[in-house]
Amino acid sequence: MSFEVHAQGAVHVFDCFACAIHRMAPICEHCRVQIIGQGVEADGQWFCGAHCARAEKGQVGIVDKV
Ligand SMILES: [Zn+2]
Repeated sequence: MSFEVHAQGAVHVFDCFACAIHRMAPICEHCRVQIIGQGVEADGQWFCGAHCARAEKGQVGIVDKV
């Protein structure tokens, strides 16, 4: 029951979603959790949500994707 994840020109093979998340999910630049949802990008950095993006960047107007 393996599956492939194609990302940035590479193919990764996993046998469970937990392994794929552990290996591939980006890390929030503020709270360091793994981002398994859509996340928020601000100035080339990734955050788990708008709260962390605002806390790190000091910007207003950053909103969660829904
Ligand atoms: Zn965060």
